[in-house]
Amino acid sequence: MASQVITNSLSHLKKYFGYDSFRKDQAEIIEHVLSGKDALVVMPTGGGKSMCFQLPALKFEGLTLVISPLIALMKDQVDGLKSNGIPADFYNSTQTPEVQLEIKSKVANRDIKLLYTAPESLSGLQEILSETYISCVAVDEAHCISSWGHDFRPSYQQLGFLKKSLPKTPIIALTATADKTTRKDILKQLGIPKAKAFLSSFDRENIFLEVRVADKRLKQIENFLLRRKDEAGIAYCLSRKSTEKLAKDLTKKGFKAKAYHAGLPSEERSKIQEEFVYDKTQIICATVAFGMGIDKSNVRWVIHYNMPKNLEGYYQEIGRAGRDGLQANALMFHSYADVIQYKRFIENSMNQKVQEAKLDRIKQFAEATSCRRRILLGYFGEHLTENCGFCDVCKNPPRFFDAKLIAQKALSAVARAKQKEPMGMIIDILRGAKNAAIYDKGYQNIKTYGIGDGISWRDWQHYILQLTNLGYIEIAFHRGNALEFTPLAKKVLFEDEQVWLTKPKQDQVSSSQPKQT
Ligand code: ADP
Ligand code: ZN
Repeated sequence: MASQVITNSLSHLKKYFGYDSFRKDQAEIIEHVLSGKDALVVMPTGGGKSMCFQLPALKFEGLTLVISPLIALMKDQVDGLKSNGIPADFYNSTQTPEVQLEIKSKVANRDIKLLYTAPESLSGLQEILSETYISCVAVDEAHCISSWGHDFRPSYQQLGFLKKSLPKTPIIALTATADKTTRKDILKQLGIPKAKAFLSSFDRENIFLEVRVADKRLKQIENFLLRRKDEAGIAYCLSRKSTEKLAKDLTKKGFKAKAYHAGLPSEERSKIQEEFVYDKTQIICATVAFGMGIDKSNVRWVIHYNMPKNLEGYYQEIGRAGRDGLQANALMFHSYADVIQYKRFIENSMNQKVQEAKLDRIKQFAEATSCRRRILLGYFGEHLTENCGFCDVCKNPPRFFDAKLIAQKALSAVARAKQKEPMGMIIDILRGAKNAAIYDKGYQNIKTYGIGDGISWRDWQHYILQLTNLGYIEIAFHRGNALEFTPLAKKVLFEDEQVWLTKPKQDQVSSSQPKQT
């Protein structure tokens, strides 16, 4: 069914980029753009957005102007195009006036097909752009135009003039932000309300999603890596210190690991990046500073040593794995301590409410007892009709058991501690711990002391966290993380309500390696 336009584009794809076929939505988008119509392309990172304007640029008679906020990456992008024999250049504030002049004359002479620039540099180009025949304008990272997006940039707001001054030139706006409000706002502000939207699936089907409790993390990571000896991967940590600690620990265990964070000198960072890209370093232990603009297709796994602060971040970071389409793993560790730390960060920040809601959503994802992919994609507005079969929950569905008695014991310990104690102390009470803190407060004398001594510490934590998720208990972050009742608690304590909980996973290691058929 391939149209003439597409057949013809395929030969360009092969000739200039060396690829044999278009990815899922690329062909349709390219055909649309070539027909001179406006478009909004929403595609996940790594999906191949650039091709949607780079290939048309080769076929258009005039210039394709690419607006991008990422000045630091422009040179790399342009170098990449040049090395494929495509005449391209960039114009931005990092260049000297001489170089800028040179670029302008190249544009005026129609020597280049693509010109990358930042919105704040557009004014410098105004005179030559109005003279030059512009065939297409691509607005990359288009969500930056919207204050609804997560990366608003005031300089993007002036881009509305583009459609006004070039009413016949097609605009293609590209972003990886799927959110409906942001999408609408992008179209409105660019003055292209009727642009056709191409929404690609956000599903990265080749990535196995898994979440584990952060218990003996280093040991778990070591086991995970033993079966992935030469596979490149990224371990994301929350703090600079922990990237260094983890890199050191892994090096001691014989892996080639390096730490990467914004506190390192920039030459060192480039060196580390390069060694990773060229497979000299197997593992990067990094803060979220790592990954932007890294084009490495064979990253086989991403580990979140700490839980990310929201699902946007999680999605973006796991998306760095498996860009070659082969199977990859995303393993996230989830700990109660991380959640508490985030709550503290958020407390003193702007838009606290939004951030808290986002934290809740990733917590729900981490503690999910149903298909994780459905939850993740659902968050981005994409609703799968079936379970994915390629996440830890699908592979190893939790079994629920009648946990009424366990819930009653936990809740009565909370009651006897007058809703003043954090989870650790509640568990110590339940298990009848013999420590100073218990004796100090006389908890050895209360009725619930030791009523749960047959259950391990870790299992109690698993059960109490579930009771929290189910809404029976709340953690009072302003009162030393004391466990408190919600109105639902009394149903369990006084109305004999049924409670179903899941058992902790016994063998987390053996469930980690899915077999693909
Ligand atoms: P995005 O901008 O959506 O994050 P890119 O445009 O950087 O993604 O593309 C990601 C990677 O996919 C790049 O390495 C690119 O060369 C590659 N790519 C794009 N289109 C194709 C294709 N049709 N076939 C194979 N690889 C492709
Ligand atoms: Zn699933």
